[in-house]
Amino acid sequence: MRKQFVVIGLGRFGTSVAKTLNILGHDVLAMDKNEHAVQVIMHDVTHAVQADARDEETLRALGVRNFDVAVVAIGDDLEANILITLMLKEMGIPYVVTKAQSALHGKVLEKIGADKVIYPEQDMGVRLANNLIRTNVMDF
Ligand code: ATP
Repeated sequence: MRKQFVVIGLGRFGTSVAKTLNILGHDVLAMDKNEHAVQVIMHDVTHAVQADARDEETLRALGVRNFDVAVVAIGDDLEANILITLMLKEMGIPYVVTKAQSALHGKVLEKIGADKVIYPEQDMGVRLANNLIRTNVMDF
């Protein structure tokens, strides 16, 4: 079933998530405060907007509350990352995924209601290790 995703923060991680969801046939609203990041992804998602996602009015005007899933892919700005996650949950988005910078940050995100907290570098490391074992790297 076609779902509606909003991806906030279009760094390497957010861009990759947004493009892949689009390739998989879903509706994707991609958002970044940086105009260049928005220009780069414009043709690879359903909608791309330049906006500061800390602004609740902007989120409401974009109808973000009606989306099925939100991905908060902001890295460096912890305050924005936490605030936006909180607002998205308070708006009623059923599933909010947020990228964490540390275990403590992840704990805060869980406490404020994030449905899934991810640690991209660590998660990728675990996946790679598992894949290396599954493909029996010793055969190479
Ligand atoms: P990556 O590792 O995925 O490349 P990163 O972890 O270094 O990214 P940042 O570069 O800090 O993460 O943030 C990712 C994107 O989020 C940036 O393009 C930045 O412009 C955007 N961003 C940061 N704050 C906001 C905000 N308040 N609203 C919208 N976009 C934001």
